[in-house]
Amino acid sequence: MLNLSNLSVKYGSFTAIEDVNVEVGEGEFVVLLGSNGAGKSTIFKAISGLEKPSGGKIIFEGNSIGGLSPERLVKSGIVHCAEGRELFPRMTVHENLIMGAYVHRKKKKEIKQSIKDVYELFPILHEKREDAAGSLSGGQQQMLAIGRALMAKPKLMLLDEPSIGLAPLIVEQMFDVIQQINKDGTTILLAEQNANAALKIANRGYVFENGSIVVQGTSEELFTNDEVRKAYIGA
Ligand code: ATP
Repeated sequence: MLNLSNLSVKYGSFTAIEDVNVEVGEGEFVVLLGSNGAGKSTIFKAISGLEKPSGGKIIFEGNSIGGLSPERLVKSGIVHCAEGRELFPRMTVHENLIMGAYVHRKKKKEIKQSIKDVYELFPILHEKREDAAGSLSGGQQQMLAIGRALMAKPKLMLLDEPSIGLAPLIVEQMFDVIQQINKDGTTILLAEQNANAALKIANRGYVFENGSIVVQGTSEELFTNDEVRKAYIGA
């Protein structure tokens, strides 16, 4: 479904990622691991059109998409759930969800159904539907960000560190729902520092250091890899 080949991205003269090769098959759940600044967010920005690649190719469903606008990419089925959530804090939960369907100009009936699906996945959002997004807890805001991304009916969902700043129990609940979204048919590419939680649900993963891939494999291979355990699992 998604193929990054020899992808490089620069910020001015600084090379943030270099010669990166990543493959994500349809229906897969793939995780990008790595510490702060390793380049995970930059890869997401390149895939979703927020940064232009300086080299290499991004192929999505057989088409080269490197450098296309974020709006076109959302229309083609790629949605980016960025780190920091980027909600509209003064708008209600419900209004934030409606904004997620904006690019597709869907009919009212379809939007209603999508919102119903999101509320089924996250009952707490239904409870809080008239509350301002900014008044929600960190975990609820993250759920809203994911819910809003689902409103665009993505084929591929890019999730950038959804567990950041959340309590372990909330992380567990969040990852259960992400796994459910994957089972329902959405392909997932997840960036995480929480390797322990991510490798429990992902099929495969890539480990990044300083903008390059240093290890890749199935989740089980990564979970039992000594270097990965030392650096990211703490055992
Ligand atoms: P984090 O979890 O902190 O977001 P990351 O693995 O996602 O880490 P990136 O945000 O992709 O890493 O950053 C990769 C490198 O690019 C870092 O060295 C970072 O300082 C640098 N960088 C990121 N954005 C910019 C920017 N807009 N201008 C210049 N350098 C940047």
